[in-house]
Amino acid sequence: MRLLILGGTGDARALAARLGEEGRHSVIVSLAGAVARPEVYGAHTRIGGFGGVEGLVAYLRETGIDAVVDATHPFARTMSANAVAACDRAGVALLRLDRPEWRPEAGDDWREVTDLGEAVAALPHGARPFLAIGRKEIGVFAPRGDLFCLMRMIDPPAPDQPLPPGRLVLGRPPEDAHVEVAAFRDHGVTHVVTKNSGGPWGYAKIEAARRLGLPVVMVRRPPCAGAQTVADTQAVLGWIARLAERC
Ligand code: NAP
Repeated sequence: MRLLILGGTGDARALAARLGEEGRHSVIVSLAGAVARPEVYGAHTRIGGFGGVEGLVAYLRETGIDAVVDATHPFARTMSANAVAACDRAGVALLRLDRPEWRPEAGDDWREVTDLGEAVAALPHGARPFLAIGRKEIGVFAPRGDLFCLMRMIDPPAPDQPLPPGRLVLGRPPEDAHVEVAAFRDHGVTHVVTKNSGGPWGYAKIEAARRLGLPVVMVRRPPCAGAQTVADTQAVLGWIARLAERC
C-alpha cells in the first residue's frame, strides 16, 4: 500500500521507523515546514502545506495514496480537520493517532485552562513563567509587561514578533528532568505554562515542576476532528495490516 503519514511529532517518527523496518509498504511523511531543520524520518519526506482540503484531495489522488495516518500534534487541529474532509472526499482510509493526555500525579499542582488566553490570565502579577508553547502563539503573552518569561522554542521568532519581557532559549526540550530543574532554578521560574501534548517528549518539564513544587498552567486539548482514533503506534500497525489484507 502507499501510505501518507501526517507528521511533525515523535509519534510520526516512531511510526515511520517501524514501517521502514517492516518494509511492506511505501511510506511518505508530510511535514508542515514549521521548523527550519526538521528531525530525520526514516521515510520519503515532503515538506509544506497542501493548500487546504482541495489541495490535499488533489495530492491524495495524484500520488495514489491508499491510507492516511494523521499523527500530527494534538493541537494541530486545522490539519486534522482537513484530513477528515479530504479523505472523505477522496475515499481514502484515515486513522488518527492521538497519544494519551498527561494526567496530574501526586505532588502536581495543575491549573487547567481551555486556551492560551486563559493561561495568560492565570498568571499572577510579577510571575516568572516558563513558556513551552512554541513560537507561533507566544505573542499572546506580550501585553503582560509585569512578567519575566523564560521562553524556549526550536527556531527564533520572526523579527516583528511581539514578545513578553524575559529570556529566549533556542532548542528542543531536554529528555532529562534534571536539566529542566537546573534551568528553572537558574531563572527563578515560578510557573510552568504548557499545552497538554502527552507523550514522553517534553514531559521533563512536568516532572521538574513536580520536584520543585511549581504550579503548572496546563492548556487542555482542543476537540478532535472526528476521525477513527487510536492511542499508540502498535494499534496503527494493526489497522494498516487489516487494510492491507483487504487490498
Ligand atoms: P495546524 O494549525 O493544524 O495547520 C496549519 C496548516 O499547516 C494546515 O492547514 C496545513 O496547511 C499545514 N500543515 C500542518 N501540518 C501539516 C503536515 N503534517 N503536512 C503538511 N502540511 C501541514 O498545524 P500547526 O499547529 O501550525 O502545526 C504545524 C505542524 O507542527 C504540524 O505538523 C504539527 O504536527 C507540528 N506541531 C504542532 C504543535 C502545536 O502546538 N500546534 C506542536 C508540535 C508540533 P495547508 O492547509 O496548506 O495544507
